[in-house]
Amino acid sequence: VKKTSPIPVAQYGGRHQVTMLPGSGIGPELMNYVQEVFKYSGAPVDFQVVDIDPKSDQANELEDAIISIKRNGVGIKGNIETRSESTGVRSRNVAIRNELDLFVNVLHCQSYPGVPAKQKDIDIMVIRQNTEGEYAMLEHESVSGVVESMKVVTQENSERVARWAFEFAKKNDRKKVTTIHKANIMKLSDGLFLEINRKIAKEYPEIEHNDMIIDNCCMQLVSKPHQFDVMIMTNLYGTIVSNVVCGLVGGAGLLSGRNYGDHYAIFEPGTRNTGTAIAGKNIANPVAMLNASVDMLEHLGHKAHANLIKSAIRKTICEDKVHTPDLGGTNKSTEVVQRIIDHILEADVRVW
Ligand code: ADP
Ligand code: MG
Repeated sequence: VKKTSPIPVAQYGGRHQVTMLPGSGIGPELMNYVQEVFKYSGAPVDFQVVDIDPKSDQANELEDAIISIKRNGVGIKGNIETRSESTGVRSRNVAIRNELDLFVNVLHCQSYPGVPAKQKDIDIMVIRQNTEGEYAMLEHESVSGVVESMKVVTQENSERVARWAFEFAKKNDRKKVTTIHKANIMKLSDGLFLEINRKIAKEYPEIEHNDMIIDNCCMQLVSKPHQFDVMIMTNLYGTIVSNVVCGLVGGAGLLSGRNYGDHYAIFEPGTRNTGTAIAGKNIANPVAMLNASVDMLEHLGHKAHANLIKSAIRKTICEDKVHTPDLGGTNKSTEVVQRIIDHILEADVRVW
């Protein structure tokens, strides 16, 4: 099995350079918090910041971003809005994932004790095909009033993502993989995805494999979520299920998501929201983006710095209960960040 997203070689002094795409809405303020927390934790990472204007339909900013990630191997990003009037402009978020062939998205949905949530003790891995399916962006109006949209499922990408899921389950001692689909209706596309999942599952006899229709899956997630361990699905079901499971453990402000391909990796908040309505008000929850930065440090092999920040986040939200309004609290974003920095400075471990 080929190694997905190889770790870039560190530069002089063991430092890494990483591409930072702040994006729109709350993205830029969340990135400032990441930079602050990295400064106090001594994380050996330098950021190359590439801004993308939501109103522009120029390709050059997008190209700069892609070149930068190709050079650095790793990126951290907020959601990039596309507000151009012309319908010909495709989503830059999708373009980046496709251009870098980031074929798998991984969301580890784990409850934080002490954070108000609909369900307790959740520990679900949502693994999602990240570059095709309904996100092929092949839509056209065939005759006036009739729009057709293509859902693309390929054997190659279905195999890659299924392999990734089962390898992950094996390495992390997970017991069960559930394939989510609608193969009873989309017999060819979802049928192929399911068939390939069943084929790959046979190579992992120690891991239980089952499958579930997407509509039943949504109901089961809300009523009996503890039956799920590792879940694997195509792109659109993936975004919906990710949002459901994030909602179960405390909303859009907590969890991070990881995008991997054979060459590059991008880290971002799990539900990929722009947060336009809450931007600039000092109320956005900084935790999801900080968790993305922890994932990035782990990926780069900076384990000690990752653990330092991770444990400061846990103390802040689980013990001190310094919570922004999305978690039912009254704290400002900056108060959460300050408390996290306080815990970093208090830690006995000095990692630099
Ligand atoms: P998008 O603009 O991508 O459609 P929204 O901004 O509508 O997404 O986000 C969906 C919901 O999640 C909104 O209610 C938003 O306030 C909330 N949300 C997203 N990110 C955060 C965050 N970091 N902290 C608090 N709330 C958030
Ligand atoms: Mg939206």
